[in-house]
Amino acid sequence: MLFNEIIGLDGTKQFLLQAVQRNHLAHALLFDGPTGSANLALALALAQYVNCEDKQADDACGRCASCIKIQKFVHPDLHMVFPVANLAKGKTSEAYLTDWRKFLLATPYRTLPNWLETMGADNKQGNISAEEARNILQKLSLKSYEGAYKIMLIWLPELMNITSANALLKVLEEPPAQTLFLLVTNQSDKLLITILSRTQRVAVRAFTDEEVATYLRQHQNLDETTARRFAYLADGNLAEALQLSQRDTASTDQHIWFADWMRTCYRQDLINLVKQADQFDGFSKEKQKGLLDYSIRLYRDLFLWQQGAAELLRLPDDELDFVKKFAKVLTIDHIERIVHDLNEAAYHLERNARAKMIMLDMSLTFSRLIR
Ligand SMILES: [Zn+2]
Repeated sequence: MLFNEIIGLDGTKQFLLQAVQRNHLAHALLFDGPTGSANLALALALAQYVNCEDKQADDACGRCASCIKIQKFVHPDLHMVFPVANLAKGKTSEAYLTDWRKFLLATPYRTLPNWLETMGADNKQGNISAEEARNILQKLSLKSYEGAYKIMLIWLPELMNITSANALLKVLEEPPAQTLFLLVTNQSDKLLITILSRTQRVAVRAFTDEEVATYLRQHQNLDETTARRFAYLADGNLAEALQLSQRDTASTDQHIWFADWMRTCYRQDLINLVKQADQFDGFSKEKQKGLLDYSIRLYRDLFLWQQGAAELLRLPDDELDFVKKFAKVLTIDHIERIVHDLNEAAYHLERNARAKMIMLDMSLTFSRLIR
């Protein structure tokens, strides 16, 4: 991974580059960022940079023997530890390394559910076991093969059980020479205070909508409007945006469905409202929830618009059109009522109430309110 492949975050990259160039690099860094941020990508870029044989001012060379091995995640001095589940192959990361490499090569913007799904353990919990801790100690006792640094990258250290966390703490207290620990977390508040205090925190902010949209245009070949819609829905989470763009056209359809529903409510077209409730009833539960979430989000934006906070809205054109039109026919009280009803509906749907009845109820109320 090169720093240049990561969009934005120039300040964070400069901080890391200069730490290496000035020989100020802490022996343990904690890349602390929300899910779908560049925390893992930055750690991988740093791993490549520190061992690059031909460092440039702003990045690794990408061509030397070390870079080539690190880019494929096969460098013998790059050790990676991550949560595992399912355990058919073993209890440590090592057993899943081939899958893990493939997983990372596709994109470093990944989430734990992605990984568990890849392992075929969707509904299990991942964790970093005590066996893993022994493994870490053993690996670090080895001499570095070729690189200047032995690197121990730990993805989601918050999932270490207490035994493994304590073992890690011990090595962090007395770090082996020329060893660099890169901890990549989404929930630093779940780490032992003692681990926090022995690592230097690198705060990684979420991506902006603009950055997410740019990434989607460049890497997924999406057009401007679609990229912006996914960016808006993902709210800075690049992993989520990538998933949205790969999941057929579900999200683009959400707006079409929603707009159609609202128009039918506005016309008080009872026959079509019943048809729509039937159609909604036939959707998968996940799709139903997605549509309600989408509706809630748009109504919240409508609320902000009514309150004069238009500058807070980050809406693609179609959504903005809707907000402007409906702002004319709805009062604040009505919007509050609609958001309340949508939330109720989501609650009941979760508890297996009949989707058709929920939908029809809402439609009738909204028809009354929107007029
Ligand atoms: Zn290089």
